[in-house]
Amino acid sequence: MIPFVDLRAQFVAIRDEVMPRIAALCEQGLFVGGEEVAAFEREFAAFCGVGHCVGVANGTDALWLTLLAMGVGPGDEVILPVNTFFATAEAVSAVGARPVFVDHDLYYHLDPAAVEAAVTERTEAIITVHLYGQPADIDALQAVARRHNLRLIEDAAQAHGSLYKGRKAGNLADAAAFSFYPGKNLGAYGDAGAVVTDDAGLAERVRLLAQHGSRVKYHHLVPGYNSRLDTVQAAVLRVKLRRLEAWNEARIRHAAAYDRLLAQVPAALPGRAPDRTHVFHLYVVRVPDRDAVARRLQACGVQTGIHYPLPLHLQPAYAGEPGFGLGAFPRAEAWAGELLSLPMFPELTPEQIEFVCEALEGALKGP
Ligand SMILES: *Cc1c(COP(=O)(O)O)cnc(C)c1O
Repeated sequence: MIPFVDLRAQFVAIRDEVMPRIAALCEQGLFVGGEEVAAFEREFAAFCGVGHCVGVANGTDALWLTLLAMGVGPGDEVILPVNTFFATAEAVSAVGARPVFVDHDLYYHLDPAAVEAAVTERTEAIITVHLYGQPADIDALQAVARRHNLRLIEDAAQAHGSLYKGRKAGNLADAAAFSFYPGKNLGAYGDAGAVVTDDAGLAERVRLLAQHGSRVKYHHLVPGYNSRLDTVQAAVLRVKLRRLEAWNEARIRHAAAYDRLLAQVPAALPGRAPDRTHVFHLYVVRVPDRDAVARRLQACGVQTGIHYPLPLHLQPAYAGEPGFGLGAFPRAEAWAGELLSLPMFPELTPEQIEFVCEALEGALKGP
């Protein structure tokens, strides 16, 4: 059996380092706040090459609090890709703004020309998603944002450590939202997230909103929320951050092996855009007759995923939005039936990769 992700393999490799830290926090009864959280925020900001990091409860809150802190709200529109995890749109809806979907380019990113065409006088922001682990075309998106005076936000939940022209994801726009959901390239042992930015004022507003509108305990400047990165997660993330680059390098090696072994197989392999480092949160191919191929792989003991089976405009949650019916986003709609994510995690072995590729080749030939 080859799992799609194997979190246990990674745990076993760091158990001796991570468990004593968790135990120490339990011994101290220190579960919220404290030096581990502050240290992780410093270390992750430095890793991304930005001035500020605010730990929050999860990646969805990171997007939502960023929009709130930027003042995006009812009556505003926010442009985002139609193929992404639901949370990207959900954060926009949560502040009362309207998500405006856009089809993607050949690398599964916002198509800058389509973004420009979607701008109206209500548009306040663009959320670009570095989908599957590769940064979007930031220079082109930044140019659109500047022409129309819009905020540009990175949804970097799948792209910890990826690069665009030598700059890290998280350091490419006005602010970035990260998720540390367990299966992400940098994953906690539960939910966790962060907002990173060079804008000190924005970071301060996110922090205020995430901590009950309070800077000093029991003194509340505004009604806020409770969305904190907890201490145990910060401690786990600090241990893992030191290994992130090595784990990303392993993912990149595995992707190169997949590329090589699948070169002759009738599947569309992931494209690499120029000037970028793809960190392969997911290795996504496109194949005909996808559901049958996935079933045949499962029968051979190979687990796969689909990211994502239904573009956002066709989700029941957004059905009936004017202008976003079936046919509105032809590329995303056509590709949604073909996307197939192969097993990808740092501890994959060359033998497992070979097995997956042979199984895929067989599955594509038919039952
Ligand atoms: C995981 C993910 C999120 C949400 O993160 P959570 O921590 O699960 O809330 C948002 N956007 C994308 C693209 C993601 O992959």
